Amino acid sequence: LIEANDLVKTYTMRRGVFGKPSHVRAVDGVSLSVAPKTTLGIVGESGSGKSTMGRLLLGLEAPTEGSVRFDGEAMPALRTPRWRSLRARMQLVFQDPLAALDRRISIGAQIGEPLAIHAVGSEEGRRERVDELLVAVGLRRDQAERYPHELSGGQRQRVVIARAIATNPELLVCDEPVSALDVSIQAQVINLLRDLQEKRGIAMAFISHDLKVVRNIADRVAVMYLGRIVEEAASEDIFRSPLHPYTQALVSSVP
Ligand code: ATP
Ligand code: MG
Repeated sequence: LIEANDLVKTYTMRRGVFGKPSHVRAVDGVSLSVAPKTTLGIVGESGSGKSTMGRLLLGLEAPTEGSVRFDGEAMPALRTPRWRSLRARMQLVFQDPLAALDRRISIGAQIGEPLAIHAVGSEEGRRERVDELLVAVGLRRDQAERYPHELSGGQRQRVVIARAIATNPELLVCDEPVSALDVSIQAQVINLLRDLQEKRGIAMAFISHDLKVVRNIADRVAVMYLGRIVEEAASEDIFRSPLHPYTQALVSSVP
């Protein structure tokens, strides 16, 4: 469904006007693919390039080198009409639901937003769809009238997920989707994502620093270290017989 080939992303930073520029190779030659209806877990420590990889997959940033193909098509440039139409088919869920939501807009309006933007159905049809989405993510219909700050963290992340699946995307890129949530709520949100994966056949790139979480959802796991994938295998193989020393350390740290 989505395929990255030899992606490199270099950031150049300069301290002050006269400072010497320094270069960071955030992503340093990564190839990966996510097959339809499957979940690829992307794990690695802080700064290993996971989020950068997620943004490259969605075309939110252009790679310095390499290419991304979605459904066989080269990723169009950001905000072009073609990119916008592909964007309806791939969505991002990230860590902080409060940052993702607008506190002045009701939950229902925010879930319906992508439908309105992509002009899906009639107004009445969109309202029904919002109801259906609320129920699909385990919220109540009457919560449509609420505002983000009136919900719990877990409920907010459900709203973000409802909005992300509104246009029936084929791919969700989830960047640490449960890291900001209590452990008890984490499992509920993971179960919801698994449910979506099974019932709606949504493929996922699931980014997390937490191998325990990834284990519960990924079919395959790619381990990133210093901007590279050091190991990629079926989830059970990663846990049963990790090959790379970094993966071994990671796996042995999981209770
Ligand atoms: P975390 O687990 O902390 O979220 P990560 O694996 O998602 O980390 P990235 O956010 O992809 O890591 O960052 C990888 C490297 O690229 C880091 O060294 C980071 O400082 C750098 N980096 C990321 N985004 C930018 C940016 N917009 N400008 C400059 N450097 C950046
Ligand atoms: Mg990150």
